[in-house]
Amino acid sequence: MRIDILGVGFDNLTSGQAVSWADGIIKSGGKSYIVTPNPEIVTIARRDESLRAILNSAGLVLPDGVGITIAARILGTPLCERIPGIDFASELLAGLSASSGSVFLLGAKPGVAEEAAKRLAQTYPELVVSGTADGYFQEDEPVIRMLNEARPDLLLVCLGAPKQEFWIAKNIEALDVRLCIGLGGALDVYAGAVKRAPAAFRKLGLEWLYRLAREPSRIKRMIKLPLFVMAAIMKRIRGIWQKGN
Ligand code: UDP
Repeated sequence: MRIDILGVGFDNLTSGQAVSWADGIIKSGGKSYIVTPNPEIVTIARRDESLRAILNSAGLVLPDGVGITIAARILGTPLCERIPGIDFASELLAGLSASSGSVFLLGAKPGVAEEAAKRLAQTYPELVVSGTADGYFQEDEPVIRMLNEARPDLLLVCLGAPKQEFWIAKNIEALDVRLCIGLGGALDVYAGAVKRAPAAFRKLGLEWLYRLAREPSRIKRMIKLPLFVMAAIMKRIRGIWQKGN
């Protein structure tokens, strides 16, 4: 059962359960995609019906930002865990490495995916990186051809949200790939170009604050967070008021 947060249904799973689900898709030779929306994306999806449909049609919808778990609590339907997309992907890559599975890295600026591949090979020695491509291509066709030659188990689509979600939804039918995940700036992190917040910040759900301190220009995007929380509060109040009438 999914938990509705302002129009987007989130899977209420532990990260272990989510990884098992993803493993199952890869091993059974199925095909699916996973999205990891944060409050910014849910805010866009509230106004954009097509994005909302894409998110809700995903095989798994994982709560990436702390704002999502806060909103879930405000709405009276708490989620059991916050699952940052990059942590989830790292667990999947570890599992793939153990079974010599393959991944394709798509996205970020030229050179970043290659550097990420080099570093991932050091962390996960048995992982097969079946290809890389930057995220600034003009046409989908050549990228799809490259992917279908590589036939990876897992495709990390890192074009930023919501571009990556639209790209996956448009192209998944044509792709010979088991599982796609939209992962935003994850390749920048895997390549070492962007540092993640220290563990203490992550534990406290303050990764966004660390990121803001390093990239103050993100304030324009983060300003949506209080509005998102306010929307959840208003929805809860309306729900309580309607019950009382
Ligand atoms: N990006 C891309 N193609 C584009 C636009 C962006 O590959 O047309 C990449 C960009 O280089 C960066 C990532 O998408 O690596 C977006 O990172 P950000 O941290 O903004 O992601 P989000 O906040 O959406 O997770």
